[in-house]
Amino acid sequence: MNTAMNEAHRAAIAAPDGRRPQRVRHASRLRRLEVRAVERVTPHLLRVTVGGDELAGFSSPGFDDHVKLFFPAEDGSLNLPTPGPDGPQFGAGPRPAMRDYTPRHYDAAAQTLQIDFALHEAGPATRWAEQARVGQPLGVGGPRGSFLVPTDFDWHLLIGDDTALPAIARRLAELPAGARAIVIAEVDGAADEIELPGPAALARHWVHRHGGAPGAIEALSAALRQCALPPGDGYAWIAAEAGVARALRAQLLGERGLPAARVKAAAYWKRGATAVHERYED
Ligand SMILES: Cc1cc2nc3c(=O)[nH]c(=O)nc-3n(C[C@H](O)[C@H](O)[C@H](O)COP(=O)(O)OP(=O)(O)OC[C@H]3O[C@@H](n4cnc5c(N)ncnc54)[C@H](O)[C@@H]3O)c2cc1C
Repeated sequence: MNTAMNEAHRAAIAAPDGRRPQRVRHASRLRRLEVRAVERVTPHLLRVTVGGDELAGFSSPGFDDHVKLFFPAEDGSLNLPTPGPDGPQFGAGPRPAMRDYTPRHYDAAAQTLQIDFALHEAGPATRWAEQARVGQPLGVGGPRGSFLVPTDFDWHLLIGDDTALPAIARRLAELPAGARAIVIAEVDGAADEIELPGPAALARHWVHRHGGAPGAIEALSAALRQCALPPGDGYAWIAAEAGVARALRAQLLGERGLPAARVKAAAYWKRGATAVHERYED
């Protein structure tokens, strides 16, 4: 997200200490924004642009940052918490549903933020995105921290399903010319493939579900097995269903011998569970 990346963060990514990723914390902030536009990017991806004066100062330097979205109730009201001495305090009324999403693109001049929703069968976030209309409120908390992965690895492997596409697209936009990237991404069909612009040399491997249920390991695992990794010192990033992310990470460590410190894997959702965010590290 170049518009939001300040010079210190740029330096941290471009001149890493021994190519080590760095975690940085940000002051926590919760914003009340409103929908400015809704656009269907692909059959299963809906882009909602939110904006408002409260977006001033928004910063998201890490490609896999996340914000917490707070959704309005059925009657359209949005019950956002206020900061208190013991953490956030909710007023009277039902608490809003909350889910994690990637800040896809922040436009500081227009004060807008894009969020891409991968559409699936059920859930308050998906339901809200499908009915979203200009003028409706949305709460956006964070990002509270960023994980900055140096861009000068010899290669960058990015693997995921529909929910990972916003972060993958951000990474490809920030990798410099001369970088080598390999993307293995699972979507339902060819119509769900998105453009992945950026200056890096990119090998794309799209995997299709053809109407099958998301969250199965077989297709991504087979695509990874067939994928030749370039020589040198690389970094692999995985985001998908919990079991899939864990299994792909084990595959990279076991079959490819990648060091654990060079593989970041996260559950962006978990079959049969709601609002899951797990990281798999040693
Ligand atoms: C750090 C982070 C960043 C994320 N960024 C994005 C993003 O930019 N875009 C995005 O679309 N998602 C993103 N996700 C995933 C998103 O938060 C989850 O998919 C979330 O569960 C969706 O909420 P929901 O209310 O629609 O469904 P929930 O109420 O959470 O779940 C309802 C049911 O749907 C299932 N389910 C949840 N997600 C999916 C899915 N994608 N496919 C199939 N079944 C599913 C659950 O297992 C559950 O059974 C991110 C998650 C994390 C942790």
